Amino acid sequence: IEPDTFRIAATAMIDYIINYNKEIGNRQTFPDVQPGFMRNLLRAEAPKVGESWEDVYSDIERVVMQGMTHWVAPGFFAYFPAALSFPALLADLLCGGAPCIGFSWAASPSCTEMETVMMDWLAKALDLPPCFIHGRHGPGGGVIQGTATESMLVTMIAARNKVISRELSRDPKLSKYDILPRMVVYTSDCSHSSVEKVGLLSMIEVRKLSAGRKGVLRRKTLQDAIDKDKKNNKIPTFVCATLGTTPCCTYDNVDEIGRICKFIEDIWLHIDAAYAGAALICPEFRHIADGIKRATSFNLNLHKWLMVNFDCSGLWVRDSSYLTDSANVNALFLEHQTQQTTIDYRHWQIPLGRRYGSLKIWFVLCMVGIDGLQTHVRRFYHVRRGVAEAKYFENLVRKDERFEIVFPVTLGLVCLKLKRPGLNIEENAINEELNRKIQADRRIHLVPSIVHGIYFLRVATGSVNCSRQALDNCWDVIREMSQLV
Ligand code: PLP
Repeated sequence: IEPDTFRIAATAMIDYIINYNKEIGNRQTFPDVQPGFMRNLLRAEAPKVGESWEDVYSDIERVVMQGMTHWVAPGFFAYFPAALSFPALLADLLCGGAPCIGFSWAASPSCTEMETVMMDWLAKALDLPPCFIHGRHGPGGGVIQGTATESMLVTMIAARNKVISRELSRDPKLSKYDILPRMVVYTSDCSHSSVEKVGLLSMIEVRKLSAGRKGVLRRKTLQDAIDKDKKNNKIPTFVCATLGTTPCCTYDNVDEIGRICKFIEDIWLHIDAAYAGAALICPEFRHIADGIKRATSFNLNLHKWLMVNFDCSGLWVRDSSYLTDSANVNALFLEHQTQQTTIDYRHWQIPLGRRYGSLKIWFVLCMVGIDGLQTHVRRFYHVRRGVAEAKYFENLVRKDERFEIVFPVTLGLVCLKLKRPGLNIEENAINEELNRKIQADRRIHLVPSIVHGIYFLRVATGSVNCSRQALDNCWDVIREMSQLV
C-alpha cells in the first residue's frame, strides 16, 4: 500500500487498539466458537488481487474477534498475564518499520549493542549477580529469547555439550552416544511442562522429583535422587529450579539446590523464573531468589509481568561460551571483520534470524522507568492491580469458610478449593464440577491445577484490566457456581 494509505490505516489501527482496550469490559472473555469456525468465515483461497484496507479492517471484528480469548478482559484469570504496554507497541512498530535481522554484530550493530546494554540494565534493575552482566565481570551476559522454553532448550543443550566434553576428556575411548543415555535432568513435579518437552527434544531423561504438599523442591529430595542415579552409572547433568511455579506459584529452595549443584556436584543449575522473576524489580521480593548467585543460568519472561509485549524472554548465563560452543556453525556469508571481538547473538540461540527485540525493552525502561515498573508489580495503595489485588482476592475467599486457600499467596496467584470433609477424591470431584460450571457460565475464565493429588482452581490476577470490581465479580461467580455443585 502507498505511504499515505498506510498513514490512514495505521491511525485507524491505533484507534482500534485504544478502543479495544477501553471497551474490553463489554466483551466475553472466552469465545463461544466451535473448532473449525474460522474456515466458515474465510474464503477457501487467498484473493488473487489485493483488497483495500477498508475490506480487511472491516473483517477484524467479524473474523478475528469472534474467536478471541481476551487476555486483557477483566474476566480473564486463567494464565499468568500477557503484558500490554503502549511503549512496547510503539517499539514493535519501529522494529517492523525499519527491518533488520540482527543475527550478527555486522548484520546490525545497533540491534546487537542495544540488546547487550538492555540486558545489563535489566540485570542491574533486577539485582542479578554480577556474573550475569556482560563484559566487565567475566564471560557471562544476557540475551533475548522468544520464550522460556527456548531459553531452557539452549541451556539444556549447552549443559549436554559441557558434560559430553568433560566425560570425553576423562575417557577418550567413549563416544558421545555412550554418554547421552546416561544423562539425567532433575526438576520438580510442580515445574512447567516445558522442562519435560525440552528433555524430549534434547534426548535427556527428565526426573520429576516430588515438591511435596508445599510445592517446593528441597535439598534432600534432589540429593537422594542424584545419589541413586550415580550408583546406577547415570550422569546428573542439569537441574531446573523454578521461582514461581505455574500451578501454585511456589519457589524451589534455590539456596539449597545451588549448593548441591555448585559445591557438591558439578551440575548446570537453570532457574526458571518465567513469571515471578519480574518481582525481583522490587527489593522486598528479592528474598525469593536467595542463592541465585550459584545459578548457571536465569530466565524471566518480560512479556508476562514486566510490560514488554510478547515475545520477550530474558536469558542470562554465567558463561556464554557454553552456549556459543554448542551452537557455533559458520558460513562465509555470515563472517565479518569484527567477529573475534563482538557478540554474534546467532550463536546464543536456535534460529539464525532475530528481530530488534531490545527496542521494546528500551522504550519501556525509558518511558515507564524502574519506579513505574515497581509500581506495576506492587500495585499497592492508589494503584489497584497486581500483588495487592491477589491479597484482596485472598481475603474475600478466606471470609467464606466453605473455601480453602491451598497455597500461600505471595505474588499474583490465588489457589482455592471448595472444602469437603472426607476423601481427597470426593473433594476433587466437587471442585472439578465447580470448574466445569464456571467454564460453561462464561462470565470469567480460569484454569484448574493439581498438585500432590489435590485439585484446585487458580485465579491469576495482574492482567492490565484486573481491578477490585473484576475480582468482586470473579468471586461472585465462583460462589454462585459453588451453590450448584
Ligand atoms: N515456566 C514457567 C514457570 C511458566 O509459567 C511458563 C508459562 O507460563 C513457562 C515456563 C513457559 O513459557 P513460554 O511460553 O515462554 O515457553
